[in-house]
Amino acid sequence: SARPRTALNECVKVVVRCRPLSDREKNESYEEVVKVWPERGAVQVYNPKGQDKLFTYDAAYDCSSDTKTIYDEMVRPLVASVLDGFNGCVFAYGQTGTGKTHTMEGNGDDEGIIPRTFRHIWAHIENTASPDVTHLVSCSYVELYLEDVRDLLSKECKKLTIRGQELNGFYIPEMTSIVCKSASEMVRLMRAGNRNRASGRTDMNEHSSRSHAVFLVTVETAHRSTNRIRVGKLNLVDLAGSERQRKTGASADRLREAARINQALSSLGNVISALAENSPHVPYRDSKLTRILQDSLGGNSKTIMIANIGPASYNYDETVTTLRYAHRAKAI
Ligand code: ADP
Ligand code: MG
Repeated sequence: SARPRTALNECVKVVVRCRPLSDREKNESYEEVVKVWPERGAVQVYNPKGQDKLFTYDAAYDCSSDTKTIYDEMVRPLVASVLDGFNGCVFAYGQTGTGKTHTMEGNGDDEGIIPRTFRHIWAHIENTASPDVTHLVSCSYVELYLEDVRDLLSKECKKLTIRGQELNGFYIPEMTSIVCKSASEMVRLMRAGNRNRASGRTDMNEHSSRSHAVFLVTVETAHRSTNRIRVGKLNLVDLAGSERQRKTGASADRLREAARINQALSSLGNVISALAENSPHVPYRDSKLTRILQDSLGGNSKTIMIANIGPASYNYDETVTTLRYAHRAKAI
């Protein structure tokens, strides 16, 4: 690229995960157009009409990889630094149906990043137990839909207001925060939040593809002997689907909604690429999403963006768009 190269920020990692062909895609004999070279962190997309496209990332995972591997290789060091008192953020990005929720929450045998994080935190707490240390783990769970921030741990998903400004940080004064005593309690909380998010909705899949879910874990570690408290915050984010809305057939409301979603995702991409390039100006203010995540993006925080893609030929355009977005977030 023609951009001047400065040292890339090691706190920002971008990885790609390609899911397997679904049964439906197999039955309909769709061709696979994605090839992943895990050892090179590279993803190639076969272009039937021209040159293949090749992108490289911090890591790339093919359809045979499981979430455990992604956790151990990429996420575990980030959670370890949260336990040391730093902040962190893990995003799942991609078109609807490519495996964001599968990656973050998990599915059947493939336990997701969020519950793995909970078990990791509690294993650490048990391993470091001593009369000198006390840990306090608390959770919040919010959803962003258009201009609304909703508290998934409150009755009827109460609407929340973001306060503060860029200089001193944004915060959400009325957000529910629940102290948890075990990993299983945290999983129950996540599920309760998901049920609350779905209740009264006729099409939860559609809703979740248009809204961002942000699970926040705060870990405080107090040392009696030194009177010191360390606080680490971790945001675990299942983003809205990145697909472009087709202009034909969509209502004006739908198009406005799609424009909003795209605006939030592009502002997130701008923030991550500014951080990756150590740019002096990071445009946190441009969306509610980046406002509420500001303190776990940048500074000493670690960020991982997992870009999810599907392998089938009919997704070619969206796949290339996702790979470009992820590549722009951090060009290797
Ligand atoms: P998204 O949240 O991005 O819309 P989902 O996580 O709901 O996508 O995944 C869509 C479907 O594909 C689900 O049935 C899910 O179980 C399946 N799937 C996604 N990723 C994988 C994977 N890596 N391995 C197996 N199945 C997957
Ligand atoms: Mg989903």
